[in-house]
Amino acid sequence: MGKNFNIIIVGAGMAGLCAANEAASLGAKVLVLEKEKEIGGSSLLSGRFMAFAETDLQKKEGIQDSSQLLIDDMLAVGEGKNEAHLVEAYGKSQLETYKWLVEKGVEFHAVRAASGHTVPRGHTITPLQAITTLYNQAIATGNVTVVVEAAVKRLRKNSDGRIQSVIYEKDGLEFVVKGEQGVILTSGGFSKSNEMLESFAPQLKNALRIGGNGNVGDGIKLAWEHGAWVRDLPYLQGTYGFHPTADGPRKSQAHAFYKGAIIVNKFGNRFVNESISYKLIGTEALKQPDNTSFQIWDQTIMNESVPGDALYDFDNLLQLGLIEKANSLKELAQLIDVPIEQLEKTIAKYNEDVSKGEDSEFGRKTLTHYFGKPKQINEAPFYAMRTTAAMLATYAGVAVNEQAQVLNPFNEPIDGLYAAGEIAGGFHGAGYMTGSSLGKAAIFGRIAAKSALAKLVTN
Ligand SMILES: Cc1cc2nc3c(=O)[nH]c(=O)nc-3n(C[C@H](O)[C@H](O)[C@H](O)COP(=O)(O)OP(=O)(O)OC[C@H]3O[C@@H](n4cnc5c(N)ncnc54)[C@H](O)[C@@H]3O)c2cc1C
Repeated sequence: MGKNFNIIIVGAGMAGLCAANEAASLGAKVLVLEKEKEIGGSSLLSGRFMAFAETDLQKKEGIQDSSQLLIDDMLAVGEGKNEAHLVEAYGKSQLETYKWLVEKGVEFHAVRAASGHTVPRGHTITPLQAITTLYNQAIATGNVTVVVEAAVKRLRKNSDGRIQSVIYEKDGLEFVVKGEQGVILTSGGFSKSNEMLESFAPQLKNALRIGGNGNVGDGIKLAWEHGAWVRDLPYLQGTYGFHPTADGPRKSQAHAFYKGAIIVNKFGNRFVNESISYKLIGTEALKQPDNTSFQIWDQTIMNESVPGDALYDFDNLLQLGLIEKANSLKELAQLIDVPIEQLEKTIAKYNEDVSKGEDSEFGRKTLTHYFGKPKQINEAPFYAMRTTAAMLATYAGVAVNEQAQVLNPFNEPIDGLYAAGEIAGGFHGAGYMTGSSLGKAAIFGRIAAKSALAKLVTN
Protein backbone atom coordinates (compact mmCIF):
# COMPACT_ATOMS: atom_id res chain seq x y z
CA MET A 1 0.00 0.00 0.00
CA GLY A 2 3.10 2.19 0.34
CA LYS A 3 1.47 4.54 2.83
CA ASN A 4 1.46 4.74 6.60
CA PHE A 5 -1.65 5.27 8.65
CA ASN A 6 -2.33 6.45 12.18
CA ILE A 7 -4.46 3.46 12.95
CA ILE A 8 -5.33 0.13 11.36
CA ILE A 9 -8.75 -1.42 11.97
CA VAL A 10 -9.21 -5.14 11.35
CA GLY A 11 -12.79 -5.92 10.25
CA ALA A 12 -15.59 -3.74 8.88
CA GLY A 13 -18.68 -4.60 10.91
CA MET A 14 -20.49 -2.34 13.38
CA ALA A 15 -17.46 -2.03 15.69
CA GLY A 16 -14.93 -1.42 12.91
CA LEU A 17 -17.05 1.19 11.14
CA CYS A 18 -17.82 3.06 14.37
CA ALA A 19 -14.12 3.01 15.24
CA ALA A 20 -13.26 4.27 11.74
CA ASN A 21 -15.74 7.15 11.95
CA GLU A 22 -14.56 8.18 15.39
CA ALA A 23 -10.88 7.94 14.41
CA ALA A 24 -11.46 9.98 11.26
CA SER A 25 -13.25 12.68 13.25
CA LEU A 26 -10.14 12.93 15.43
CA GLY A 27 -8.11 13.69 12.33
CA ALA A 28 -6.49 10.28 11.98
CA LYS A 29 -5.58 8.56 8.72
CA VAL A 30 -7.37 5.23 9.00
CA LEU A 31 -6.99 1.94 7.16
CA VAL A 32 -9.80 -0.61 7.52
CA LEU A 33 -8.95 -4.12 6.30
CA GLU A 34 -11.89 -6.45 5.67
CA LYS A 35 -11.37 -10.10 4.86
CA GLU A 36 -14.64 -10.68 2.99
CA LYS A 37 -15.76 -9.25 -0.34
CA GLU A 38 -18.66 -7.49 1.38
CA ILE A 39 -18.36 -5.41 4.53
CA GLY A 40 -20.78 -5.86 7.46
CA GLY A 41 -19.94 -9.26 8.99
CA SER A 42 -22.47 -10.54 11.52
CA SER A 43 -23.72 -6.99 12.04
CA LEU A 44 -25.43 -7.23 8.68
CA LEU A 45 -27.20 -10.47 9.60
CA SER A 46 -28.23 -9.32 13.02
CA GLY A 47 -31.69 -9.34 14.52
CA ARG A 48 -31.57 -5.50 14.52
CA PHE A 49 -31.80 -4.67 18.20
CA MET A 50 -29.53 -2.17 19.92
CA ALA A 51 -29.85 -1.73 23.68
CA PHE A 52 -30.05 1.92 24.71
CA ALA A 53 -31.80 3.74 27.55
CA GLU A 54 -33.37 7.19 28.05
CA THR A 55 -33.73 7.75 24.31
CA ASP A 56 -36.22 9.94 22.47
CA LEU A 57 -37.92 6.81 21.11
CA GLN A 58 -38.47 5.41 24.60
CA LYS A 59 -39.75 8.77 25.84
CA LYS A 60 -42.18 8.95 22.94
CA GLU A 61 -43.64 5.62 24.05
CA GLY A 62 -43.70 6.65 27.71
CA ILE A 63 -41.05 4.08 28.66
CA GLN A 64 -39.21 4.97 31.86
CA ASP A 65 -35.62 3.75 31.62
CA SER A 66 -32.21 4.87 32.81
CA SER A 67 -28.54 4.09 32.25
CA GLN A 68 -28.43 2.71 35.77
CA LEU A 69 -31.37 0.35 35.15
CA LEU A 70 -29.68 -0.84 31.96
CA ILE A 71 -26.44 -1.48 33.88
CA ASP A 72 -28.33 -3.30 36.64
CA ASP A 73 -30.15 -5.47 34.08
CA MET A 74 -26.90 -6.35 32.31
CA LEU A 75 -25.24 -7.36 35.54
CA ALA A 76 -28.32 -9.34 36.61
CA VAL A 77 -28.62 -11.16 33.31
CA GLY A 78 -24.85 -11.81 33.30
CA GLU A 79 -25.28 -13.29 36.77
CA GLY A 80 -22.57 -10.99 38.08
CA LYS A 81 -19.93 -12.84 36.04
CA ASN A 82 -19.49 -9.87 33.73
CA GLU A 83 -16.82 -7.25 34.38
CA ALA A 84 -18.72 -4.47 36.14
CA HIS A 85 -16.34 -1.74 34.90
CA LEU A 86 -17.03 -2.71 31.26
CA VAL A 87 -20.78 -2.69 31.83
CA GLU A 88 -20.47 0.69 33.57
CA ALA A 89 -18.45 2.05 30.63
CA TYR A 90 -21.32 0.96 28.35
CA GLY A 91 -23.83 2.68 30.62
CA LYS A 92 -21.79 5.87 30.67
CA SER A 93 -21.51 6.19 26.87
CA GLN A 94 -24.71 4.55 25.67
CA LEU A 95 -27.00 7.55 25.30
CA GLU A 96 -24.30 9.68 23.72
CA THR A 97 -23.53 6.87 21.25
CA TYR A 98 -27.22 6.48 20.39
CA LYS A 99 -27.36 10.21 19.58
CA TRP A 100 -24.08 9.97 17.65
CA LEU A 101 -25.48 7.13 15.51
CA VAL A 102 -28.65 9.15 14.85
CA GLU A 103 -26.49 12.13 13.85
CA LYS A 104 -24.54 9.91 11.46
CA GLY A 105 -27.84 8.96 9.82
CA VAL A 106 -28.52 5.54 11.34
CA GLU A 107 -32.28 5.09 11.49
CA PHE A 108 -33.99 3.69 14.59
CA HIS A 109 -37.56 2.56 14.11
CA ALA A 110 -39.14 1.12 17.26
CA VAL A 111 -38.44 -0.10 20.78
CA ARG A 112 -39.16 -3.68 21.87
CA ALA A 113 -38.76 -5.74 25.02
CA ALA A 114 -36.58 -8.82 24.70
CA SER A 115 -34.12 -10.88 26.70
CA GLY A 116 -32.85 -9.14 29.83
CA HIS A 117 -35.04 -6.04 29.50
CA THR A 118 -36.88 -4.78 32.56
CA VAL A 119 -38.46 -2.25 30.22
CA PRO A 120 -38.51 -2.30 26.41
CA ARG A 121 -35.08 -1.04 25.21
CA GLY A 122 -34.28 -2.98 22.05
CA HIS A 123 -34.03 -0.16 19.49
CA THR A 124 -34.54 -1.59 16.01
CA ILE A 125 -32.33 -0.66 13.08
CA THR A 126 -32.22 -1.92 9.51
CA PRO A 127 -28.74 -3.45 9.50
CA LEU A 128 -28.04 -2.74 5.82
CA GLN A 129 -29.08 0.91 6.25
CA ALA A 130 -26.92 1.26 9.36
CA ILE A 131 -23.81 -0.38 7.91
CA THR A 132 -24.07 1.44 4.56
CA THR A 133 -24.57 4.76 6.32
CA LEU A 134 -21.59 4.29 8.61
CA TYR A 135 -19.44 3.19 5.68
CA ASN A 136 -20.48 6.18 3.54
CA GLN A 137 -19.90 8.58 6.41
CA ALA A 138 -16.44 7.16 7.02
CA ILE A 139 -15.45 7.43 3.36
CA ALA A 140 -16.88 10.96 3.15
CA THR A 141 -14.39 12.17 5.77
CA GLY A 142 -11.59 11.59 3.27
CA ASN A 143 -9.53 10.07 6.08
CA VAL A 144 -10.64 6.45 5.79
CA THR A 145 -9.48 3.81 3.31
CA VAL A 146 -11.38 0.52 3.30
CA VAL A 147 -9.82 -2.46 1.55
CA VAL A 148 -11.95 -5.58 1.10
CA GLU A 149 -10.77 -9.13 0.50
CA ALA A 150 -7.79 -8.24 2.66
CA ALA A 151 -7.33 -10.86 5.38
CA VAL A 152 -5.09 -9.88 8.25
CA LYS A 153 -2.71 -12.74 9.00
CA ARG A 154 -0.40 -11.51 11.74
CA LEU A 155 0.40 -8.48 13.91
CA ARG A 156 3.94 -7.23 14.44
CA LYS A 157 5.59 -5.05 17.10
CA ASN A 158 8.04 -2.22 16.49
CA SER A 159 11.44 -2.09 18.18
CA ASP A 160 9.83 -0.51 21.31
CA GLY A 161 7.56 -3.53 21.71
CA ARG A 162 4.47 -1.71 20.52
CA ILE A 163 1.99 -3.40 18.14
CA GLN A 164 2.27 -1.30 15.02
CA SER A 165 2.16 -3.34 11.83
CA VAL A 166 -0.15 -5.84 10.26
CA ILE A 167 0.62 -8.45 7.67
CA TYR A 168 -2.33 -9.02 5.39
CA GLU A 169 -3.07 -11.03 2.30
CA LYS A 170 -4.80 -9.74 -0.78
CA ASP A 171 -5.05 -11.37 -4.19
CA GLY A 172 -2.65 -14.08 -3.06
CA LEU A 173 0.04 -11.53 -2.16
CA GLU A 174 1.29 -10.55 1.27
CA PHE A 175 1.53 -6.90 2.36
CA VAL A 176 2.83 -5.17 5.47
CA VAL A 177 1.31 -1.88 6.57
CA LYS A 178 1.95 0.32 9.56
CA GLY A 179 -0.43 2.04 11.97
CA GLU A 180 1.59 4.59 13.97
CA GLN A 181 -0.78 4.55 16.96
CA GLY A 182 -1.56 0.86 16.80
CA VAL A 183 -4.17 -1.66 15.71
CA ILE A 184 -7.84 -2.02 16.63
CA LEU A 185 -9.21 -5.55 16.31
CA THR A 186 -12.90 -5.51 15.34
CA SER A 187 -12.91 -8.85 13.60
CA GLY A 188 -15.96 -10.32 15.33
CA GLY A 189 -16.35 -13.69 17.04
CA PHE A 190 -15.95 -17.31 15.99
CA SER A 191 -19.49 -18.58 15.45
CA LYS A 192 -18.41 -19.94 12.06
CA SER A 193 -15.31 -21.73 13.32
CA ASN A 194 -15.90 -25.43 13.92
CA GLU A 195 -12.30 -25.69 15.06
CA MET A 196 -12.71 -23.14 17.86
CA LEU A 197 -16.23 -24.20 18.85
CA GLU A 198 -15.19 -27.84 19.07
CA SER A 199 -12.22 -26.81 21.23
CA PHE A 200 -14.08 -24.49 23.61
CA ALA A 201 -17.74 -25.47 23.49
CA PRO A 202 -18.20 -29.14 22.57
CA GLN A 203 -21.65 -28.98 24.23
CA LEU A 204 -22.77 -26.86 21.26
CA LYS A 205 -22.11 -29.47 18.62
CA ASN A 206 -25.84 -29.71 17.78
CA ALA A 207 -26.46 -25.97 17.66
CA LEU A 208 -26.94 -24.28 14.29
CA ARG A 209 -24.03 -22.08 13.15
CA ILE A 210 -24.99 -18.60 11.99
CA GLY A 211 -22.89 -15.49 11.45
CA GLY A 212 -20.67 -13.60 9.05
CA ASN A 213 -18.55 -15.93 6.94
CA GLY A 214 -15.38 -14.25 8.11
CA ASN A 215 -16.20 -14.80 11.78
CA VAL A 216 -13.80 -17.62 12.52
CA GLY A 217 -11.86 -16.10 15.39
CA ASP A 218 -8.88 -14.71 13.43
CA GLY A 219 -8.59 -11.67 15.68
CA ILE A 220 -8.47 -13.74 18.84
CA LYS A 221 -5.59 -15.76 17.41
CA LEU A 222 -3.81 -12.57 16.28
CA ALA A 223 -4.03 -11.21 19.82
CA TRP A 224 -3.10 -14.54 21.43
CA GLU A 225 0.21 -14.51 19.63
CA HIS A 226 1.03 -11.34 21.54
CA GLY A 227 -0.06 -12.61 24.93
CA ALA A 228 -3.74 -11.58 25.19
CA TRP A 229 -5.84 -13.13 27.96
CA VAL A 230 -9.38 -14.34 27.21
CA ARG A 231 -12.60 -14.04 29.14
CA ASP A 232 -16.05 -15.70 29.23
CA LEU A 233 -15.10 -18.94 27.44
CA PRO A 234 -17.10 -21.00 29.99
CA TYR A 235 -20.25 -19.04 29.06
CA LEU A 236 -20.37 -19.83 25.34
CA GLN A 237 -24.04 -20.49 24.66
CA GLY A 238 -26.42 -20.90 21.77
CA THR A 239 -29.35 -18.54 21.24
CA TYR A 240 -32.77 -20.16 21.42
CA GLY A 241 -35.47 -19.29 18.91
CA PHE A 242 -34.38 -20.63 15.50
CA HIS A 243 -36.24 -23.03 13.25
CA PRO A 244 -33.82 -25.91 12.67
CA THR A 245 -34.39 -26.36 8.94
CA ALA A 246 -35.14 -22.84 7.67
CA ASP A 247 -33.10 -21.58 4.72
CA GLY A 248 -30.87 -18.54 4.41
CA PRO A 249 -27.81 -17.26 6.24
CA ARG A 250 -29.97 -15.93 9.08
CA LYS A 251 -32.33 -18.91 9.28
CA SER A 252 -35.66 -17.90 10.82
CA GLN A 253 -36.41 -17.09 14.37
CA ALA A 254 -39.42 -16.41 16.55
CA HIS A 255 -39.46 -15.43 20.18
CA ALA A 256 -43.11 -16.21 20.89
CA PHE A 257 -41.91 -17.34 24.34
CA TYR A 258 -41.25 -13.70 25.25
CA LYS A 259 -44.88 -12.93 24.30
CA GLY A 260 -46.23 -15.76 26.45
CA ALA A 261 -45.66 -19.05 24.57
CA ILE A 262 -44.48 -22.07 26.51
CA ILE A 263 -41.67 -24.37 25.41
CA VAL A 264 -42.07 -28.16 25.51
CA ASN A 265 -39.87 -31.11 24.54
CA LYS A 266 -40.87 -34.00 22.32
CA PHE A 267 -42.70 -35.61 25.26
CA GLY A 268 -44.88 -32.52 25.70
CA ASN A 269 -43.18 -31.45 28.93
CA ARG A 270 -41.99 -27.97 29.79
CA PHE A 271 -38.35 -27.89 30.85
CA VAL A 272 -37.47 -24.25 31.50
CA ASN A 273 -38.70 -20.88 32.74
CA GLU A 274 -39.44 -19.27 29.37
CA SER A 275 -38.78 -15.71 30.59
CA ILE A 276 -35.04 -16.16 31.19
CA SER A 277 -32.26 -15.18 28.78
CA TYR A 278 -32.61 -17.02 25.45
CA LYS A 279 -28.99 -18.10 25.90
CA LEU A 280 -29.90 -20.00 29.05
CA ILE A 281 -33.01 -21.43 27.37
CA GLY A 282 -30.74 -22.52 24.48
CA THR A 283 -28.49 -24.42 26.87
CA GLU A 284 -31.48 -26.30 28.32
CA ALA A 285 -33.00 -26.94 24.88
CA LEU A 286 -29.80 -28.59 23.63
CA LYS A 287 -30.06 -31.08 26.51
CA GLN A 288 -33.56 -32.28 25.49
CA PRO A 289 -34.14 -35.72 23.91
CA ASP A 290 -33.37 -35.73 20.19
CA ASN A 291 -32.38 -32.09 20.58
CA THR A 292 -36.05 -31.26 19.92
CA SER A 293 -38.31 -28.60 21.38
CA PHE A 294 -41.38 -26.62 20.39
CA GLN A 295 -42.79 -23.22 21.22
CA ILE A 296 -46.55 -23.51 21.72
CA TRP A 297 -48.93 -20.57 21.72
CA ASP A 298 -52.49 -19.48 20.96
CA GLN A 299 -54.32 -16.87 18.93
CA THR A 300 -54.02 -14.19 21.64
CA ILE A 301 -50.25 -14.33 21.30
CA MET A 302 -50.43 -14.71 17.52
CA ASN A 303 -52.30 -11.40 17.42
CA GLU A 304 -49.09 -9.77 18.68
CA SER A 305 -47.20 -10.67 15.51
CA VAL A 306 -45.21 -7.64 14.30
CA PRO A 307 -44.81 -7.46 10.52
CA GLY A 308 -41.17 -7.24 9.43
CA ASP A 309 -39.79 -7.78 12.93
CA ALA A 310 -36.83 -10.15 13.19
CA LEU A 311 -38.16 -11.87 16.32
CA TYR A 312 -41.88 -11.31 16.40
CA ASP A 313 -43.14 -11.68 12.81
CA PHE A 314 -45.04 -14.93 13.49
CA ASP A 315 -47.44 -14.43 10.55
CA ASN A 316 -44.52 -14.43 8.12
CA LEU A 317 -43.13 -17.67 9.56
CA LEU A 318 -46.60 -19.21 9.31
CA GLN A 319 -46.74 -18.27 5.65
CA LEU A 320 -43.28 -19.76 5.13
CA GLY A 321 -44.60 -23.04 6.51
CA LEU A 322 -42.32 -22.94 9.57
CA ILE A 323 -45.18 -22.76 12.09
CA GLU A 324 -47.95 -25.37 12.52
CA LYS A 325 -51.52 -24.18 13.10
CA ALA A 326 -54.43 -26.26 14.44
CA ASN A 327 -57.94 -25.68 15.75
CA SER A 328 -57.40 -27.80 18.83
CA LEU A 329 -54.48 -28.81 21.03
CA LYS A 330 -55.17 -32.41 20.06
CA GLU A 331 -54.74 -31.64 16.38
CA LEU A 332 -51.62 -29.57 17.11
CA ALA A 333 -50.05 -32.41 19.10
CA GLN A 334 -50.66 -34.75 16.17
CA LEU A 335 -49.07 -32.31 13.73
CA ILE A 336 -45.87 -32.05 15.75
CA ASP A 337 -45.86 -35.68 16.91
CA VAL A 338 -46.01 -34.92 20.62
CA PRO A 339 -48.14 -37.12 22.99
CA ILE A 340 -51.62 -35.56 22.97
CA GLU A 341 -52.56 -36.21 26.57
CA GLN A 342 -49.27 -34.92 27.90
CA LEU A 343 -49.42 -31.70 25.90
CA GLU A 344 -52.99 -31.08 27.08
CA LYS A 345 -51.96 -31.82 30.66
CA THR A 346 -48.94 -29.50 30.46
CA ILE A 347 -51.02 -26.64 29.14
CA ALA A 348 -53.85 -27.23 31.63
CA LYS A 349 -51.33 -27.12 34.48
CA TYR A 350 -49.65 -24.02 33.10
CA ASN A 351 -53.00 -22.23 32.68
CA GLU A 352 -54.04 -23.14 36.20
CA ASP A 353 -50.73 -21.78 37.53
CA VAL A 354 -51.14 -18.56 35.53
CA SER A 355 -54.59 -18.05 37.03
CA LYS A 356 -53.07 -18.47 40.51
CA GLY A 357 -50.21 -16.13 39.64
CA GLU A 358 -47.58 -18.77 40.38
CA ASP A 359 -45.68 -21.13 38.07
CA SER A 360 -45.28 -24.09 40.39
CA GLU A 361 -42.91 -25.91 38.03
CA PHE A 362 -40.36 -23.40 36.75
CA GLY A 363 -41.10 -20.17 38.57
CA ARG A 364 -42.06 -18.08 35.54
CA LYS A 365 -43.35 -14.73 36.79
CA THR A 366 -42.96 -12.52 33.70
CA LEU A 367 -42.89 -12.62 29.92
CA THR A 368 -39.23 -11.64 29.68
CA HIS A 369 -36.81 -10.79 32.48
CA TYR A 370 -38.88 -8.50 34.75
CA PHE A 371 -41.29 -7.41 32.00
CA GLY A 372 -44.92 -8.44 31.42
CA LYS A 373 -47.27 -11.03 32.93
CA PRO A 374 -47.68 -14.65 31.75
CA LYS A 375 -50.94 -15.41 29.93
CA GLN A 376 -53.07 -18.50 29.66
CA ILE A 377 -52.87 -20.44 26.40
CA ASN A 378 -56.49 -21.15 25.63
CA GLU A 379 -57.76 -19.30 22.58
CA ALA A 380 -57.90 -21.43 19.41
CA PRO A 381 -56.36 -21.73 16.94
CA PHE A 382 -53.10 -22.97 18.46
CA TYR A 383 -49.61 -22.72 17.03
CA ALA A 384 -46.33 -24.62 17.35
CA MET A 385 -42.85 -23.97 16.02
CA ARG A 386 -40.07 -26.53 16.15
CA THR A 387 -37.22 -24.54 17.65
CA THR A 388 -33.57 -24.99 18.42
CA ALA A 389 -30.53 -23.00 19.49
CA ALA A 390 -28.01 -21.40 17.17
CA MET A 391 -24.47 -20.30 17.77
CA LEU A 392 -24.67 -16.86 16.28
CA ALA A 393 -22.36 -14.80 18.39
CA THR A 394 -19.63 -16.02 20.66
CA TYR A 395 -19.15 -13.10 23.09
CA ALA A 396 -16.13 -14.80 24.65
CA GLY A 397 -12.89 -13.25 23.58
CA VAL A 398 -9.87 -11.17 24.38
CA ALA A 399 -9.70 -9.43 27.74
CA VAL A 400 -10.02 -5.65 27.49
CA ASN A 401 -10.26 -2.76 29.93
CA GLU A 402 -12.73 0.11 29.75
CA GLN A 403 -10.40 1.93 27.32
CA ALA A 404 -10.66 -1.09 24.98
CA GLN A 405 -6.98 -1.90 25.45
CA VAL A 406 -6.25 -5.60 25.10
CA LEU A 407 -4.91 -7.07 28.35
CA ASN A 408 -2.39 -9.79 29.06
CA PRO A 409 -2.98 -12.40 31.83
CA PHE A 410 -1.57 -9.92 34.39
CA ASN A 411 -4.20 -7.33 33.50
CA GLU A 412 -1.59 -5.16 31.80
CA PRO A 413 -2.40 -3.46 28.48
CA ILE A 414 -0.57 -4.82 25.45
CA ASP A 415 0.93 -1.68 24.00
CA GLY A 416 -0.71 -0.59 20.75
CA LEU A 417 -3.42 -3.27 20.73
CA TYR A 418 -7.13 -2.48 21.10
CA ALA A 419 -10.26 -4.55 20.58
CA ALA A 420 -13.98 -3.84 20.32
CA GLY A 421 -17.17 -5.65 19.43
CA GLU A 422 -17.80 -9.36 19.55
CA ILE A 423 -14.08 -10.19 19.72
CA ALA A 424 -13.92 -8.76 23.25
CA GLY A 425 -14.84 -10.98 26.20
CA GLY A 426 -15.78 -10.14 29.78
CA PHE A 427 -18.74 -7.93 29.01
CA HIS A 428 -21.77 -10.25 28.97
CA GLY A 429 -20.83 -12.82 31.63
CA ALA A 430 -23.13 -15.80 32.05
CA GLY A 431 -26.18 -14.44 30.20
CA TYR A 432 -27.05 -11.93 27.52
CA MET A 433 -29.23 -8.87 27.12
CA THR A 434 -30.73 -8.43 23.65
CA GLY A 435 -29.18 -5.56 21.76
CA SER A 436 -26.10 -5.30 23.93
CA SER A 437 -23.82 -6.82 21.33
CA LEU A 438 -24.45 -4.32 18.56
CA GLY A 439 -24.59 -1.72 21.32
CA LYS A 440 -21.19 -2.66 22.67
CA ALA A 441 -19.75 -2.86 19.13
CA ALA A 442 -20.72 0.79 18.54
CA ILE A 443 -19.80 2.05 22.00
CA PHE A 444 -16.46 0.28 22.38
CA GLY A 445 -15.55 0.79 18.70
CA ARG A 446 -15.65 4.51 19.41
CA ILE A 447 -13.88 4.14 22.75
CA ALA A 448 -11.09 2.09 21.09
CA ALA A 449 -10.52 4.81 18.50
CA LYS A 450 -10.45 7.56 21.11
CA SER A 451 -8.07 5.71 23.35
CA ALA A 452 -5.74 4.58 20.53
CA LEU A 453 -5.57 8.13 19.24
CA ALA A 454 -5.30 9.92 22.57
CA LYS A 455 -1.64 10.74 21.91
CA LEU A 456 -2.37 11.97 18.39
CA VAL A 457 -4.99 14.33 19.78
CA THR A 458 -2.79 15.70 22.58
CA ASN A 459 0.27 16.13 20.31
C1 LIG B 1 -28.58 -13.88 13.17
C2 LIG B 1 -27.97 -12.93 14.18
C3 LIG B 1 -28.80 -12.10 14.92
C4 LIG B 1 -28.23 -11.23 15.85
N1 LIG B 1 -29.05 -10.33 16.48
C5 LIG B 1 -28.51 -9.39 17.28
C6 LIG B 1 -29.32 -8.34 17.80
O1 LIG B 1 -30.51 -8.21 17.52
N2 LIG B 1 -28.72 -7.44 18.63
C7 LIG B 1 -27.40 -7.51 18.97
O2 LIG B 1 -26.93 -6.68 19.74
N3 LIG B 1 -26.62 -8.48 18.46
C8 LIG B 1 -27.13 -9.40 17.60
N4 LIG B 1 -26.33 -10.36 17.06
C9 LIG B 1 -24.90 -10.33 17.37
C10 LIG B 1 -24.26 -9.14 16.66
O3 LIG B 1 -24.77 -9.05 15.34
C11 LIG B 1 -22.75 -9.26 16.60
O4 LIG B 1 -22.22 -9.64 17.84
C12 LIG B 1 -22.17 -7.90 16.19
O5 LIG B 1 -22.73 -7.51 14.96
C13 LIG B 1 -20.67 -7.99 16.10
O6 LIG B 1 -20.19 -6.81 15.51
P1 LIG B 1 -18.66 -6.71 15.22
O7 LIG B 1 -18.44 -5.43 14.51
O8 LIG B 1 -17.88 -6.98 16.44
O9 LIG B 1 -18.36 -7.94 14.22
P2 LIG B 1 -18.89 -8.22 12.76
O10 LIG B 1 -20.04 -7.39 12.41
O11 LIG B 1 -19.03 -9.69 12.65
O12 LIG B 1 -17.67 -7.74 11.87
C14 LIG B 1 -16.43 -8.37 11.91
C15 LIG B 1 -15.78 -8.25 10.55
O13 LIG B 1 -14.40 -8.63 10.65
C16 LIG B 1 -14.04 -9.35 9.49
N5 LIG B 1 -12.84 -10.14 9.74
C17 LIG B 1 -12.71 -11.28 10.46
N6 LIG B 1 -11.44 -11.72 10.44
C18 LIG B 1 -10.73 -10.83 9.70
C19 LIG B 1 -9.37 -10.77 9.29
N7 LIG B 1 -8.48 -11.70 9.63
N8 LIG B 1 -8.98 -9.73 8.51
C20 LIG B 1 -9.88 -8.76 8.14
N9 LIG B 1 -11.18 -8.81 8.47
C21 LIG B 1 -11.61 -9.82 9.26
C22 LIG B 1 -15.28 -10.18 9.21
O14 LIG B 1 -15.29 -10.64 7.88
C23 LIG B 1 -16.40 -9.20 9.52
O15 LIG B 1 -16.81 -8.47 8.40
C24 LIG B 1 -26.84 -11.22 16.09
C25 LIG B 1 -26.00 -12.05 15.34
C26 LIG B 1 -26.55 -12.88 14.37
C27 LIG B 1 -25.62 -13.73 13.53
